[in-house]
Parts: sequence; C-alpha cells; structure tokens
Amino acid sequence: MRSRRPRVSRDSEDAGGILESVVLASGGIDSAVTLAEAAEVSGEVAVLFFRYGQPTESREARCVEALAEHHGYGMEVLDLTDVFSKFRGGLTDKSVDLSVHLAEDGVAASYVPMRNTVFLSIAAGVAESRGAKHLWFGPNAEDRDAYADCRDEYASAMERALCLGTDRAEFTVHRPVVALEKHEIILRGVELEVPLEHTWSCYQDGDEPCGVCASCEERAEGFERAGVEDPL
Ligand SMILES: [Zn+2]
Repeated sequence: MRSRRPRVSRDSEDAGGILESVVLASGGIDSAVTLAEAAEVSGEVAVLFFRYGQPTESREARCVEALAEHHGYGMEVLDLTDVFSKFRGGLTDKSVDLSVHLAEDGVAASYVPMRNTVFLSIAAGVAESRGAKHLWFGPNAEDRDAYADCRDEYASAMERALCLGTDRAEFTVHRPVVALEKHEIILRGVELEVPLEHTWSCYQDGDEPCGVCASCEERAEGFERAGVEDPL
C-alpha cells in the first residue's frame, strides 16, 4: 500500500483542518478516478455528493461513500432535489426515454440542465469557505459531443468565472480525465488501485445494472477495450 498523507473525516472543518481540494463525486468510474487523482496530490479533501432527484441516487451515494472511505475521507451529501425539480430534462425527468442515447438536437437524453454549472458553483462556495483552491470534476472525452457542460472549454470558462466571482479565492478547476476515453479511464483507475466494484454507471436503479442503457453500454465497451473484467 502506498503511503498516504493524513486524511480527515467529514467533521474536518470542525477540527479546524485546512481543506485543499473539493471533489464532485457521482459514484461513476470517471469521478472515482478523478477522486483518486485528487487524493494522489491533495492533503485534505472534501468529497461532495449531490442528490438532485436522479433515479439511482441511493446506490450512487453508497458508491461515493465507499470510494471516499477508501481514501480515508468522509462523504458530504448536499440535497438539491427541490432545486432540480424545477429543471426539466434527462435524469430528473421520468418522461425521458433513456434507452434513446441522443435527443433530436444531438444533446444526450440524460443531460440535466446546468448540472455541472450548479455543482461547480457550490463546490467553489465550499472551497472558498474552507480555504481550498482546487476543484475537481470528471468529464470525459466521450461526453464532449452530447454534453456541453463536459467540454474542456466550458471547464476553462467556469474556472475563470469562479475566480472573477470572488476577491477571496483563486480556483483551479481540475478535470484529469477530460481527454480520456472510457477504456483509458478504466486503465488509469486500475493503475491507481481504484476499487471499481464501488462504482455504478447504470441509469436504472436495481440490484444489477440493466445492461442496455447508454451508460451501461459505454461501461461495457470501456472494460472490453481496456481488457479488464468489470467487477460488477
Ligand atoms: Zn443501465
């Protein structure tokens, strides 16, 4: 086992620890690897998990909790269900057919309006409040066509906007897997000893992944191309 820097629990702010990084964690492979990258270079880390009415939030939360614990961190849950009930689309809209990958306009069927913009803004608020400068989230190269808020130029612009929005902090928005395809992210996860059994990709809630939604398909193809067996 690698030697690790001291870790803190979810009560770290009460203990007066200075936070270094804030990570957006969804329980998927991309954010699991992003969290591992943050853990490699950070001291104290806040692992944020958002509830926003997504169908698999309980399972995602269990995954994030296990992933955070793997690195010696706690999970902090923020509930935005009421806010996102005002936003129409994708994972928060039960009328959307998620077996169709793309809507007619080329946007992913699972796209949720302004999700990353809201999440990054909140992460920046947490970071500014607790002295952290580093924000981490996990968009990947395969997301870029169908999700505008997963593009690298979006992340750069958000970083600038967040810095312009305060005179009290200078943020860096890290997106370590933004140029990687799923199989490359899986291989990096293996390298970083990420417990991939504690990740969930399926859009459906159930004991087993559905195997047919866009996210299950992407996951299956990623593991196959990586030559790695999916532990789920
Ligand atoms: Zn599925």
